[in-house]
Amino acid sequence: MQKTVAFTRRSANVFFHILTRCNLHCRHCYINPEQHGSHTLDIETIERWLTIFARRHAAANLIVLGGEPTLHPELSRVVKRARELAYLSVTIDTNGYLFHDILDKVTPQEVDYFSFSLDGPRAAVNDPLRGSGSFDACTRGIAAAKARGFAVSLIYTVSQANIDHLPAMPPLLDRLGVDRFFIQVIGMRGQWAEDAVCRESLAQVDRATWLATIPEVAAAAARRGITVTYPKVFLDPQETFECAGLVADNYFIFPNGRVYRCPLCEDYPLHSLQIRDDRLMDAARVNEADLFPLDIPEGCVMNRIIQPRNLAADDDGRPGHRIACCLLKEEIAP
Ligand code: SF4
Ligand code: SF4
Repeated sequence: MQKTVAFTRRSANVFFHILTRCNLHCRHCYINPEQHGSHTLDIETIERWLTIFARRHAAANLIVLGGEPTLHPELSRVVKRARELAYLSVTIDTNGYLFHDILDKVTPQEVDYFSFSLDGPRAAVNDPLRGSGSFDACTRGIAAAKARGFAVSLIYTVSQANIDHLPAMPPLLDRLGVDRFFIQVIGMRGQWAEDAVCRESLAQVDRATWLATIPEVAAAAARRGITVTYPKVFLDPQETFECAGLVADNYFIFPNGRVYRCPLCEDYPLHSLQIRDDRLMDAARVNEADLFPLDIPEGCVMNRIIQPRNLAADDDGRPGHRIACCLLKEEIAP
């Protein structure tokens, strides 16, 4: 069964980067220390910030990120505190190295998903993008998590470098026992935006290639019993454009206290909220909140500004299609 996951305010999503440090140096890493800071939040600060968002939203999903969040020695306390604060769900995003024996310190009742990142169906595809040995480490991590009874999801970031290998993923997901599969578009930010070679070799795929590949692979994975989520990216003419910044509650929190509502803004000082002295407050204008209401024929304003290469014009110079909010997802369930 396939559906577009509509934006809702019934629940909020709290994407909490508790540190920016990582053991890997992925070529497309989206972390930007200049904008996000480079320090590790101490556990007391994390607990206070978790409380801010738990009070603001009765129903919030927590996604703990980094950098590599398992490098934080107190990650298990973060999870337990989130449970005490009644977060609806807790997900830990990881590159698979699972530091500090995290699997021994939390339980499947406390963590809804360990979400692993892998960008190829074998080391020869994944490791040039994510680092030598990272394929083996990630698949070992998945096996260890499954053996302890955790639910596991996997994120595959699609670019021109690895889209041809995406069709080989469903059998691998099946073998690994992955429960959910997230296909993601490479973001034109962080390390990617800094590096000219990276920009050329890891470009986003064009509309025709995206539409010819992604839905088919998603359907193949769903036939194997895996729930698949992928970004809509290109809106059909009859579909309505909505900016999640206006109609949903997503928070992207960084260790320097910046809080964004839009992930495409994260490379710029455009955050609309800021945590200062453990209080969440509005950030100085102009910021992302001033961009969200802008109504343009191309759809997403931030896409138009920072990644216009995925726009095509018709013979009259009008946009051939609109780009959806990057947070709008299609879901296909078994
Ligand atoms: S993309 Fe993730 S795993 Fe890779 S270097 Fe960046 S933070 Fe680490
Ligand atoms: S990606 Fe575009 S549409 Fe989505 S929140 Fe950001 S500015 Fe709004």
